Amino acid sequence: MISEFIKKIQSGEIDVVEHTNKVLEQTHNLNNEFHHLNIISEELALSQAHKLKKAPKGRLAGLPISVKDSIIVKDVESRGGSKILSGYKPLFNATVINKLQAEGAIIIGKNAQDAFGFGSFSTNVGLDLQTPLNPNDKTRACGGSSGGSAGLTKAATFPHTSLGESTGGSIVAPASFCGVYGLCPTYGRISRNGLMAYGNSLDKIGPMATSPEDLALILEIISGHDKLESTSLNNPVPDFTKEITNTTKLKVGIISETVGEGTDPAIADNIQAIASKLNATKVSLPTTHKYGVPTYMLLATSEASTNLAKYCGMRYGQHEKLEGSFNDYFTKVRSKYFNEETKRRIIIGTFARMAGFRDAFYLKATKVRTKIIEEYKKLYKTYDILISPTMPIVAPTFKEIEQLTPLQNYMMDIMTVGPNLAGLPHINIPSGTHNNMPIGLLATSNHLEESKLLQLAHQLKNG
Ligand code: GLN
Repeated sequence: MISEFIKKIQSGEIDVVEHTNKVLEQTHNLNNEFHHLNIISEELALSQAHKLKKAPKGRLAGLPISVKDSIIVKDVESRGGSKILSGYKPLFNATVINKLQAEGAIIIGKNAQDAFGFGSFSTNVGLDLQTPLNPNDKTRACGGSSGGSAGLTKAATFPHTSLGESTGGSIVAPASFCGVYGLCPTYGRISRNGLMAYGNSLDKIGPMATSPEDLALILEIISGHDKLESTSLNNPVPDFTKEITNTTKLKVGIISETVGEGTDPAIADNIQAIASKLNATKVSLPTTHKYGVPTYMLLATSEASTNLAKYCGMRYGQHEKLEGSFNDYFTKVRSKYFNEETKRRIIIGTFARMAGFRDAFYLKATKVRTKIIEEYKKLYKTYDILISPTMPIVAPTFKEIEQLTPLQNYMMDIMTVGPNLAGLPHINIPSGTHNNMPIGLLATSNHLEESKLLQLAHQLKNG
């Protein structure tokens, strides 16, 4: 747990500058081996450490934190994992970065990811960027799209937490593949100001850590209303660090569709064993299971295709010599700097919202999304928490990933798209191993009930 470390920084028992120097050296070594970071923000980390040395204050005093590349940090190259943004240094911090720094956290770098969040394995990295490797087995993927965040959280030998981002599962998926805790909050709980948008109606920032207690602390600090972000919620932030120890028995349902066909039997067995320990009853989410992935892909790509229009080689990042018409120039820059998956998503999204097709695809998907929300809401009248595996398989090898078609790739998110479409908070809890690779349990609660997820993680950890 990070709390003991933070106390030692606050009391001066650990010298924050010395410690930060050591951490940066270890981070460089780890990064040479695993590529969990697109950039190490050495200068920023050291300047923060020197400031803290004079006044070692704050609930995160001296804590090294890495953040997904798509969360912007002032003056630190922020690419969202894409080559089109190479050289882009933001002029301001994301709100979450300000909140972390106000509590004394030290930002050590920007984590590797699928470009703009498009992927489940972090193999769709930008054209000049390296693919992060799973710390449990370097021939396997970290998961995505926040792969570097989960990878470094697992690999770090020093106190550390990370921030990821999820549109359709990108916090819990890599957390599951790497074997760490990851929490995706209720939509709106944490400000998206300063997060590069993938799908605005779906995007959430959330923490990753090696213990549920650390998750609770970070969540408490970065949550809350932000007047700079119109979808951020006004609700009071619970005392997550206290509520996590609540021992009230939770009423749990296991989603039966997720432990049947399509899921590795070893994973299904693992989750079912935990379900019986929790006295869980079987529940069903048929609409979510059948239509979740297509609904998600239509909505996420529709939003992404408009969000990415701003990367036209004129405002941010890479430029080319200005010549020809706007269309020629726009096409030239984007053809050169976007990777294949980014182009695929833009094409699917543009098609889905085209005049003539909009009713059949985009608008239909928004209606199915409402049905999915209703399906969950009905179950939360009876249950506190719904569980399933987080991913249907353990982290695949890079060779296995190469064999997958785009459709098989998208189906990986079958368990995680539901809570994301419904804006529901969810957590990955490491629940065992299969062939030495981590298995993750996905727990989802009703809106604004993150405390119940933390309680479950805490209860499972402490037997
Ligand atoms: N794997 C999903 C996708 O490719 C989710 C990504 C995300 O949550 N950012 O869109």
